[in-house]
Amino acid sequence: MVRGLRCPEDRWAWVEIDLDAVRQNTAAIKRCMDRDTLMMCVVKADAYGHGAVRCAKAMKRSGADQFAVATVAEGVALREGGISEPIAILSEPPVETAQTIVDYDLSPAVFNQSFALALGECAAAAGKVATYHLAIDTGMTRIGVNWRDALELRRSIDFHRGIECAGTFTHFATADVPRDWDFSMQARRFSEAVESIDAAGLDTGLVHCANTPATILHPRVHMDMCRAGIGLYGLHPANETRGMVDLKPVMSVRGRITRVERPEVGTGVSYGLSYRVPKPNIQICTVPIGYADGLSRNLSSNMDVLVNGERCRQVGRICMDQFMFEVSINNVRAYKPTRAVAYGDVVTILGTDGEESITADDMAQRRGTINYEVVCDFGLRLQKIYV
Ligand SMILES: *Cc1c(COP(=O)(O)O)cnc(C)c1O
Repeated sequence: MVRGLRCPEDRWAWVEIDLDAVRQNTAAIKRCMDRDTLMMCVVKADAYGHGAVRCAKAMKRSGADQFAVATVAEGVALREGGISEPIAILSEPPVETAQTIVDYDLSPAVFNQSFALALGECAAAAGKVATYHLAIDTGMTRIGVNWRDALELRRSIDFHRGIECAGTFTHFATADVPRDWDFSMQARRFSEAVESIDAAGLDTGLVHCANTPATILHPRVHMDMCRAGIGLYGLHPANETRGMVDLKPVMSVRGRITRVERPEVGTGVSYGLSYRVPKPNIQICTVPIGYADGLSRNLSSNMDVLVNGERCRQVGRICMDQFMFEVSINNVRAYKPTRAVAYGDVVTILGTDGEESITADDMAQRRGTINYEVVCDFGLRLQKIYV
């Protein structure tokens, strides 16, 4: 019933990653861009929980030109995994990491003079030139030099021959909101800052600012390079992008039933016994996936799973490593598996089984978060199977 089923030997719980979908999504996003615009694929947080090295290699085959990560360790892992394309670090790391950055040829965000010069010293001592991306804050108030001070910062570090500007970038706070005034303001401030650096005769390197929503919704801010993340994993950053580009979810989460019990009416289930079996002919099934695997405890008694192509209700509190769900046998109403389930049956927590699907968006809505967090969380402990 479940396509491509392969299960790890040591645990009946796993994440399936569809690398073909990664390739299709990369190509679909690339089709939103002009032929000469470069594509930087964001694979931070282990590719949003999907596995950075394997995903980066799949993206490369569909036209990724560069990669971006959040931390030095993530950059090192990509290099050690065999990625030779430029790798940007989307934040300015502690100065103590300068030697590693130089050794692994990573390109950090820069917005402090002291960091830039320390990086330059380190590179020069190794007989190298370290590349960086100038981070400009145009209104999100997170990282970067204030857009008014960008040129001044460049002037204060450009003398150093150990560093070279590979790119100039900003990040939007509201790219997912169509016709947003703040977005336009950020875009204008960014253009002004870039023009001032240009006009002073300094090289901006590649100019980039478009995340997935801006790549899909705002072609005018593509500039030299787009910096897409979530769309590569088949998830939409906003309702507005649905229908504009065809994306295929990459991650499924599955487990196998480790126990089936048919308790008496009134029997409690899980910590606090917050659920009690309400009627005869209820099977209570256990799956070895819990909140330490990224299945938020906030979903307790507020999610479904799929078994044999049917929806079943999760019941009782989600534990650290396991949860339970109920199967109502001989029930002609809503939750009606056509047959009883058994030890070892495959359970889909996220993904498709037959005609039914549970999406990261469903789960995000129930949890009160966004699809980004849902998939990142499942990347934490579950073993990944690449299909
Ligand atoms: C995470 C991130 C991205 C990618 O954003 P998506 O919405 O996932 O496309 C791009 N740029 C920066 C600076 C980021 O932190």
